[in-house]
Amino acid sequence: MHSSLSFKQFKKLSYFMAALFLAVHIVMFCIFRQSGVMPMCAVNLCSIAFYCAMLFLIHRDHLRGFVVASFLEICLHMGLAEYYTGWNSDFQITLIGICVLLFYAEYIGKSMHVACTPAVFLAPAAVLAYLVPLVIDHIRPAPYQLPSDVEFFLRISWAVILFGVVLPILRYFVYIATRSQEELTNEVLHDKLTGLPNRYYMSDFFRKMSADVRYWIAIADIDGFKNVNDTYGHNCGDYVLSSIAKLIMDLPSHIAACRWGGEEFLLAGKLNETDPAQVLESLRKTVAAYPFRYEDVSLRITVTIGAAWFAPGQSIDEWINEADTKLYAGKTGGKNRVVI
Ligand code: GH3
Ligand code: MG
Ligand code: MG
Repeated sequence: MHSSLSFKQFKKLSYFMAALFLAVHIVMFCIFRQSGVMPMCAVNLCSIAFYCAMLFLIHRDHLRGFVVASFLEICLHMGLAEYYTGWNSDFQITLIGICVLLFYAEYIGKSMHVACTPAVFLAPAAVLAYLVPLVIDHIRPAPYQLPSDVEFFLRISWAVILFGVVLPILRYFVYIATRSQEELTNEVLHDKLTGLPNRYYMSDFFRKMSADVRYWIAIADIDGFKNVNDTYGHNCGDYVLSSIAKLIMDLPSHIAACRWGGEEFLLAGKLNETDPAQVLESLRKTVAAYPFRYEDVSLRITVTIGAAWFAPGQSIDEWINEADTKLYAGKTGGKNRVVI
């Protein structure tokens, strides 16, 4: 399954985030300097140096270190910004956004099978950075007051940055979650070796059968297949199986087909859409004429096919058994034939 970011893509995303945070701190440094909030100027200088170091860390592929360190930096930085300038500039909402990114990073790390720090262990730092300055702000006014225009600018900026980063990430998260579910379902319903649907997929066909339509079913079994394995090896047997599966996939698309088990394939369709006698005979001939070639060995392979119509009142198991009986008759009658 590949419904997640690759290491390279995650590294690119990390570069983008580090550059974004670096730019934010440069702007914040200018704002705090203009507004005379000197302690936050010093904090921002440290953060600028910190993100330069982070870019280097990313360059050295320490993505986990980058995620953990920048999360803690943001908690500390935003906590201090709230402490010094109060609650009105919305520094605190960045803490909510960064939690979303943190959990997302954990998901990506896990899907890449790399060690990652569980987000639940780190998230309390954001909760503290949110609540402690809030309580302090309630007890006594903040040491500095930013001009109201600056506060407004900061609030707008946080909203733009947060929605701009968090919404696409959540959207992508929905995309990969649904896609990996689809991939899983697909994997469960298909046979790995041949790529054909497996017998669980076929139950869908049986469930959707309509009472007003007449159906046929057929089981195709490779003749003397054990002998192929014994003589040329299991890999050669696998090659024969996949080659026959490809021939089956070339049948008209309204014929349902699956790998029923070991070296047996099940085919089914509607009598008003296909003449099974003709389709199955043509499949038998195609297989018999197909130039199988594994490594340096040329092989002649044949299949025997048993087919049955679905009779109203019959159970699916009885129906399949009937096709199996026909198949058996074909085997005892000399193989390489279609019995209907
Ligand atoms: P008959 O002509 O009567 O059908 O004889 P047969 O040898 O084809 O039938 P048998 O049922 O005795 O052998 C089926 C063999 O198919 C046995 C098993 O090892 C082999 N087989 C089942 N699944 C696979 C597979 O995925 N790969 C390979 N290479 N062999 C498989
Ligand atoms: Mg068999
Ligand atoms: Mg066989």
